[in-house]
Amino acid sequence: MARVYNFSAGPSMLPEEVLKTAAAEMLEYGETGQSVMEMSHRSKEYDAIIKQAEADLREIMNIPDDYEVLFLQGGASTQFAMVPLNLMNKNHKADYIITGQWANKAYKEGARYGAARAVASSADKTYSYIPKTTRADFDPEADYVHICMNNTIYGTKYHELPDTGDVPLVADISSCILSEPIDVSKFGVLYAGAQKNVAPAGVTIVIIRKDLIGNAMEITPTMLNYATHSENGSMFNTPPCYTIYIAGLVFKWIKKMGGLEAMKAYNEKKAKILYDFLDQSRLFKGTVVPEDRSLMNVPFVTGSEELDAKFVAEAKKAGFVNIKGHRSVGGMRASIYNAMPIEGVEKLVAFMQKFEEENA
Ligand SMILES: *Cc1c(COP(=O)(O)O)cnc(C)c1O
Repeated sequence: MARVYNFSAGPSMLPEEVLKTAAAEMLEYGETGQSVMEMSHRSKEYDAIIKQAEADLREIMNIPDDYEVLFLQGGASTQFAMVPLNLMNKNHKADYIITGQWANKAYKEGARYGAARAVASSADKTYSYIPKTTRADFDPEADYVHICMNNTIYGTKYHELPDTGDVPLVADISSCILSEPIDVSKFGVLYAGAQKNVAPAGVTIVIIRKDLIGNAMEITPTMLNYATHSENGSMFNTPPCYTIYIAGLVFKWIKKMGGLEAMKAYNEKKAKILYDFLDQSRLFKGTVVPEDRSLMNVPFVTGSEELDAKFVAEAKKAGFVNIKGHRSVGGMRASIYNAMPIEGVEKLVAFMQKFEEENA
């Protein structure tokens, strides 16, 4: 068996150790005589799995007690609607910062339910930077301010949060959750689809300040009301049981790795290898301004579409897969989430070096 280095933006690599545990427990979980896939979500065995997953996530992210943790479905994209339906309830206004396609999708969805306003955008330079804002840019009467913390497609990240005053900050953290510590208390809502850094696709994690629950718009479907899920421990209906189990294994793996401080150090080390190479390369160039670079998604180009295509093809043959950039940026993108081992990045850089020698 030869496992590849998978640089996909998502779904993406999972820690090998987690996959091995899942394989070993596939036919029988503990002494239950069944797979987690087959278990009743109301069984005491499954109850222990979901409760432990939540406890471990709370511990790793240091989630304060006045926040609810929800395990939902529908992906991060469903949160684009759930956030306005549940939060745009006082003044029916919300501010959005447009830092890429995901942020823009969230904004457009928000505009269906109230007065969504695009406060700032980096569309003028293909989203290669994070627009600067000050408190004065935000409407103090907005029900929330929405940002996309790490822009998966463009490879930018907020290194400093916008100052929104008393307006709750809502952040899509789909592609940076668990990559480094985050001060949960600075946010009203954090949400993330699982398939970048947590688990296979299928579960969406929502971390929400409890006082923001319970004021959904009248039209809100039951399943899109945060209250429905918080009142029922994410068990109003059948949760994505197996995905939550895998997420739980990933949380345990992160604890073993030393928690989020250690993850951050490891991720910074990995990203530095790639960015340092890009900064001195005669052929490859990063597309993002240095101060806003992501730790997780690293887009780069050669400047020639032909060479880009050649690189992607040769990389694939050499075992570096899914490195083609998003169609809106072109070139390449290496997504180096938590589960990407440092050897994967070192070997990729060695391969890029060789390609440069042969083609520059
Ligand atoms: C992948 C991604 C999404 C979309 O997630 P789904 O779970 O497929 O809906 C949204 N936002 C960000 C930042 C992403 O990286």
